[in-house]
Amino acid sequence: TPRIVIIGAGIVGTNLADELVTRGWNNITVLDQGPLNMPGGSTSHAPGLVFQTNPSKSMALFAKYTVEKLLSLTEDGQSCFNQVGGLEVATTETRLADLKRKLGYAQSWGIDGKILSREECKALYPLINEEDILGGLHVPTDGLALAARAVQLLIKRTEAAGVKYIGNTEVTGIEQSNRRVTGVETADGVIPADIVVSCAGFWGAKVGELIGMSVPLLPLAHQYVKTTPVPAQKGKNELPNGAQLPILRHQDQDLYYREHGERYGIGSYAHRPMPVDLDELGSYEPSSISEHNMPSRLDFTLEDFLPAWEATKQILPALRESEIEDGFNGIFSFTPDGGSLVGESKEVDGFFVAEAVWVTHSAGIARAVAELLVDGKSKIDLGDCDIHRFEEVQLTPEYVSETSQQNFVEIYDVLHPLQPKLSPRNLRVSPFHARHKQLGGYFLEGAGWERPYWFEANAELLKEMPDEWQPPARDAWSGMFSSPIAAAEAWKTRTAVAMYDMTPLKRLEVSGPGALKLLQELTTGDLAKKPGAVTYTLLLDEAGGIRSDITVARLSEDTFQLGANGNIDTAYFERAARHQTENGSAGDWVQVRDTTGGTCCIGLWGPLARDLISTVSNDDFSNDGLKYFRAKKVTIGGVTVTAMRLSYVGELGWELYTSADNGQRLWDALWKAGQPFGVIAAGRAAFSSLRLEKGYRSWGSDMTTEHDPYEAGLGFAVKMAKENFIGKAALEGRTEEGSARRLRCLTVDDGRSLVLGKEPVFYKDQAVGYVTSAAYGYSVRKPIAYAYLPAAVSLGDSVEIEYFGRRIQATVTEDPLYDPTMSRLRG
Ligand code: FAD
Repeated sequence: TPRIVIIGAGIVGTNLADELVTRGWNNITVLDQGPLNMPGGSTSHAPGLVFQTNPSKSMALFAKYTVEKLLSLTEDGQSCFNQVGGLEVATTETRLADLKRKLGYAQSWGIDGKILSREECKALYPLINEEDILGGLHVPTDGLALAARAVQLLIKRTEAAGVKYIGNTEVTGIEQSNRRVTGVETADGVIPADIVVSCAGFWGAKVGELIGMSVPLLPLAHQYVKTTPVPAQKGKNELPNGAQLPILRHQDQDLYYREHGERYGIGSYAHRPMPVDLDELGSYEPSSISEHNMPSRLDFTLEDFLPAWEATKQILPALRESEIEDGFNGIFSFTPDGGSLVGESKEVDGFFVAEAVWVTHSAGIARAVAELLVDGKSKIDLGDCDIHRFEEVQLTPEYVSETSQQNFVEIYDVLHPLQPKLSPRNLRVSPFHARHKQLGGYFLEGAGWERPYWFEANAELLKEMPDEWQPPARDAWSGMFSSPIAAAEAWKTRTAVAMYDMTPLKRLEVSGPGALKLLQELTTGDLAKKPGAVTYTLLLDEAGGIRSDITVARLSEDTFQLGANGNIDTAYFERAARHQTENGSAGDWVQVRDTTGGTCCIGLWGPLARDLISTVSNDDFSNDGLKYFRAKKVTIGGVTVTAMRLSYVGELGWELYTSADNGQRLWDALWKAGQPFGVIAAGRAAFSSLRLEKGYRSWGSDMTTEHDPYEAGLGFAVKMAKENFIGKAALEGRTEEGSARRLRCLTVDDGRSLVLGKEPVFYKDQAVGYVTSAAYGYSVRKPIAYAYLPAAVSLGDSVEIEYFGRRIQATVTEDPLYDPTMSRLRG
C-alpha cells in the first residue's frame, strides 16, 4: 500500500491512522511537533462535549460515528465515551422554537431526541434554575468524548499494527516532484511519502503554505474554566473526570457546561473574538509541554469571562458556592462558514487536508478521509466540508479573518437558513447590479455574489395580480427573508416575460484538442454532438454517486462552455484536465478556465420572450432557428451574445451570455425593448419556486454523492450506451424502479403550510426521509417539498412533514407539477 505521512497526532490524525489500518493500509507514519503523550494541540485540553445534532446531514452522521467508535474504544473496561446525554436549554421563545427545529434535524438524520418541558429539564438536571428556562432538547446518545485518552489508545493500537509514530518532530517542508508529493521535510531529514495528510489542526494554514495551498481557517481563542469543587456535587462523581449529568448548553448566553468530578467545566463563546497570530505564539520546547503549558493554551483573561460567570451563577445557582479555579484561552480553528476543511490539493497530487475538525466529528471525518484514500470516495457526502467549496475571494486573509470571527460570535445564534452576512458584502456584483439597485433589489449573498431575491419596483404589480396568484400568509419563520413580491414576479414570468440575473452560476470553459475526450470521460452524457448542441449531464464518482450536474454547450469543435455548481466542480475539472494533459499526447491537451467573473448571463424567460427578443435582434429565435437545448451566437441590441435555449423556470426563453463589459448594455437593450411586453426583473425567490414546480433538481440539496441518478430521478441524463464514463460500471443493472429510495415530490394538503428544507418526513409514524428542497408553488398554488423516501412509499400516499414540532400532511405526487408535457418550454 502507498506510503502515507500524517502530520499531527491529535484526535483527527490518530483516528485517520486507525481507519487506514482497519482498511489494510500498513505503510503509515504519524508525525507531531509535540511529544506524543501530550502533543499540545487543541485535543490535548479538549473538554470533549459531543452534541451530535447539526443542520448538515454529513456532520451529524460524522458525529454519530464518532460516538459509536469512541464507545467501542475501551481499555480496562473503560470506554472513551461517557454517554451522559446532551441537554440544550431555552430561556427565550425563539430558542425554544429553534430547539424544536433542531429536533427536526435530529429526526431527519436518525438521532433520537425529545423536547422536554421546564419540569422535565429540572428532573433530568436538578442543578438547573428552572425559573429561567422554558424547556430543552434532550439527546440521550450525546455525551463526553475522552479525547486525549482516545488519542493514547489509538496510538497504542495502531502502533501495534505497525504504524510508526514520531514525536517532537516538526514538518518544515513538503517535498514534491512533477506536482506530486514525494515526502515531508523535517530537521532529521526527508521522510518519503506517496500521500501526505495534514491533520495539523489550527496550524493547518501554515502547513498549507508549505505547498502554496490556501487553507481558509483562523485560529481563535475560546475560554474554558474549571471551578473549585461545588459543594452540591460532593461525592457524586467517582472518577477524577467523572460526570453523570448530561452535557449542558445554555446557548442564549453562549455557554456550555460539563462536570469534572466535583468541579464544573464552563466553556464560553460570550467574549470578543480573539484571533491568534501563529507567528506570535512563541516556540515550545517539547520537553516543557504540560497540561498547563502548551501552544494551544493561552493565558486566561478574567475580565472577558466575568459576564459568563454571572450568567453561570444564574442558570446553575449551586455554582455560587464555588470559584473559578483554573481558566485558559484555548485555541482552535474557525472557518468562513463554520464547516471543516477536507480534500486534496488541486495543484499538488497526494497532498490532503483534514482540518478545522471538532472532536465531535473527528472519527467520522477520519473515516471519510480513509475511504477517500482507499476507495476513492467517502460514503458520507463531503460537500459541506470540501476544501474547494470556497471562491477565490473567500480565500483572502481579510475574508477568512472577518468571517471566521463572525462565526465565532454567531456560533450559538439562532440563524435563519437564508440569513445573509452583513459584512463583508458587495464583494462580487454582476454588471446588472446598478440596474438592480435602481429597481429596489433585495440582495442576499452567496459565494460572494450579491444576488437579488426580489425587486421592490415590482410591488406595484401586486395590485394588478389576479387573486388566484395571491400566496397564503407565511408563518414568522418561513416569512423571514421573503416577500409577497415574489408572487408577482412568478406571475409575470408565467404570463409575460422576466429577466433573471444568472451571472453567479459558475461558468467554465473547457478547450483544446483533448476537451471532448475529457468531458466524455467525466460526464454521463454523450457530448460528441455538433457544435451548437447543449447537454444536461451528470458528473458521477466511481460508485455512481452524483458529484454534480452541469450543462455543457459545445461552442466549437474544441471549445465547450459549462454551467457548473461551484468551485468543487472547478477543482475537479482542473485536476482531471491537468492529468490528461500531463499523461497524454499532444492531442490530449486540454485547458479549463473559470470564466464566471469575466462574463455574465441574463435568463430571459416567459411566454412573451420571443416577441420581446425579435424587436432587438435580427437573429432567428424561432423553434427552427434555435431549437430547445441548442446554442448559437447572436447579436442583441448591438451586443454579441451566446444564446442558449434553456430555462430553469420552465418557460420559453434563453440564457443570454456576454462578456461582463457588455452586460449593462445588454440589460438595457432588453429592458427597453421589453417595456411594451411588461418585462420585469425577477429575483431568486421566484426562481426557486418556479424551478421546483418544474421539478428541476438542485445539486447539494436534492442530490449529492450519496445518491445515484436513478434515485434522484435523473436516469434520463445517463447514456449507458456511451462506451465509458466514470461511474458507468457501478450503474450497470440499476433502474429507477429498482431503487430502494426515490426523490419524491410532495404537495402540502392544506395548501398553505410551508416548510424550508431538511425537515423529517414521516410515513405511518416512522421518520423515513427528509425534505431536500421546498418552496411555495405560485402557479400550482400549494407548497411543494421534495424528499427522499423509501420505494414502499408510492404516488398518492399520505406522509407527514414535521415543522417546529407540528405535523403537516402532504401527498406524494407525480412530478413535474408544472408543464409535464413541456409544451411551454418548447413553445
Ligand atoms: P490538534 O489536536 O490541534 O492536533 C494537531 C496536531 O498537529 C498538534 O498536535 C500539532 O502539534 C501538530 N502539528 C501542527 N503542525 C505541525 C507540523 N508542522 N509538524 C508536526 N506536527 C504539527 N470540540 C468538540 O468537539 N467538543 C468540545 O467540547 C470542544 N471544546 C473545546 C474547548 C476548547 C477550549 C478548545 C480550544 C477546543 C474545543 N474543541 C471542542 C475543539 C477541538 O478541541 C478541536 O477541534 C480538535 O481537538 C482538533 O483536533 P485536531 O486533531 O484537528 O487538532
